[in-house]
Amino acid sequence: MHSTLEDVALAGMQVKILPALQDNYMYLIIDNKTKEAAVVDPVDPELVIKTVKEEKVTLNKVLTTHHHWDHAGGNEKLVKLWTSGELKVYGGDDRIGALNEKVRQNDTFNIGSLNVKCLSTPCHTTGHICYHVTATDDGAAESGAVFTGDTLFQGGCGRFFEGTPEEMYEALCTKLSALPDGTKVFCGHEYTLQNMSFARHVEPDNQLIQQRIEWAKLRRASQDPTVPSTIGEEKSWNPFMRVHESTVQKHTGNTTNPIETMGKLRKEKDNFKA
Ligand SMILES: [Zn+2]
Repeated sequence: MHSTLEDVALAGMQVKILPALQDNYMYLIIDNKTKEAAVVDPVDPELVIKTVKEEKVTLNKVLTTHHHWDHAGGNEKLVKLWTSGELKVYGGDDRIGALNEKVRQNDTFNIGSLNVKCLSTPCHTTGHICYHVTATDDGAAESGAVFTGDTLFQGGCGRFFEGTPEEMYEALCTKLSALPDGTKVFCGHEYTLQNMSFARHVEPDNQLIQQRIEWAKLRRASQDPTVPSTIGEEKSWNPFMRVHESTVQKHTGNTTNPIETMGKLRKEKDNFKA
């Protein structure tokens, strides 16, 4: 395995980080109150089932971020192997295996007592969905966790396979940026060091990037995951969420247009060697 298994405790929930394939992450989200659970992008069904049994939780939902095989490729096998009741398989794209709950922007559902809100973020793929999970009944609205698949990575974003710079701008700088700064970001791959190396190239004077690189190097030296970050942190170091900043615009040439900056940044990153 590329990383150790880790637990992250948040208000009302626990998120178990499950490494898969070469650098993918699956996530098991557990509602503390009811012990109901959902799994995000279960490409390795055996590890999911093993973890669910160890934790003695009730798995009944699959949250799929997008149809690429390294995210959705385990859905059908998990449904086949799962004998402890019905699994609802959520996603925003008909190309997702075993899909039975198609969702769109602003759709909501529950994991036990937790609330899930769907954010439609087309660009990496046309049907990409991010899931914002919160526990609400602790008084004030909780910032919770967002599962961003291949739309937002720590320090970077996914390739624009089926979309435009305008769509990625909408996803990162309008929809995801609107979440509370404290929202924990759980992304689909361990790409932090590669992304942060590009971020440093774009903004060499940004100390937060340098500090995060030092921290991430230590984490990776012991195979610890670098997820999660927070939305507030991403706004401070992720060049793709900072396309309105003059430092980033200066790097991409003479433009004050954030969408043009987004397009140029992605092109440069596609060919960047860390
Ligand atoms: Zn993908």
